[in-house]
Amino acid sequence: MSEGKIRAKGLWFPDGNLIIRAGDRVCLVHKSVLASHSPVLADMFSIPQPDIADMVDGIPAVTFPDPPKEVLHWLKAMLVPRYFDMDRRSIDRDRLFAVLRLSHKYDVLHLRRRSLEYLAGLLPVDVATVQAEMFHQTSSTIPDQDAVPLDFYPPIHAIAHEVGALWLIPCIVYLLHYHMSDPSVHDCLLTLSTPSTTSLIIRLRKLSRLVSQHFSPGRLVHIRHVCDQPPCRSGWVDLDHWITSLHKDPLCFYSVTNIEMVVKPVGWGDEMEQLECVCDSCCTDMRAYVAHACSAFWDELPECLGLPAWEELLAAKARDLTMPMLSWEDLHGD
Ligand SMILES: [Zn+2]
Repeated sequence: MSEGKIRAKGLWFPDGNLIIRAGDRVCLVHKSVLASHSPVLADMFSIPQPDIADMVDGIPAVTFPDPPKEVLHWLKAMLVPRYFDMDRRSIDRDRLFAVLRLSHKYDVLHLRRRSLEYLAGLLPVDVATVQAEMFHQTSSTIPDQDAVPLDFYPPIHAIAHEVGALWLIPCIVYLLHYHMSDPSVHDCLLTLSTPSTTSLIIRLRKLSRLVSQHFSPGRLVHIRHVCDQPPCRSGWVDLDHWITSLHKDPLCFYSVTNIEMVVKPVGWGDEMEQLECVCDSCCTDMRAYVAHACSAFWDELPECLGLPAWEELLAAKARDLTMPMLSWEDLHGD
């Protein structure tokens, strides 16, 4: 029966009526259960098979054209209870990518939505959420992650295009920009084979330019230059450092107080105020300038990256995360 292949753990149902081969694994599942998850598979199974169809011991056998490891994750997400229930603070990257890609391809709406919900939790679409959460700590969210998560953001960038979830892209590019402050990382990115890597690199450059446009060192210098308070008159100790920090992560340059009135970790801007002895009035003006620039930057970001405007992206996100309408039959059975 198993043709020398290993039975896939959790995917062998002795009374199943369909063999699925996935690399060196073999699964025995119920056609009707798969068909109930996926209209694409339901269509496939409804086509009468010719006599010469692939059979193993009288049971029809199929091999999906997708990577075997992805097929196994996806089948388990459909057939093994709680397999796709992941802790949002500890996401299994391979499982998530596989389930999203194949659920999109084979139209498994509930798993596509679920996958996008996980990503929505990691990649916000509004400035306030980016600022209020510690989204930069991907290494703790995605286990086994390098300091610069090159095996996380570039694949999501590719998958977001593949599944049409463009609303994920602004935050992906922003977070990658944050991690890319070390120029050598650009070279690493070039070695990736993701087909969309070139467009990602172009987007990183565009975002970098947009940051420079909106967060002008000249404005901070000017605010202080015209100030006559004694601590400000002494000038800057290390302006270059603060400008580099501002351009690396402008949205989180200053700490914010979130709705629970908890001040999130100190930003470089907060340190700057202390170490450079900026007077209260200049602090207020600089914060107001950066806050205004953050909003303008974020508003313009999609267009700068060649994406539809936020209004359209947010509408697409709402559609992607909406529960599909369930019919009476779905709720009550036939
Ligand atoms: Zn001042």
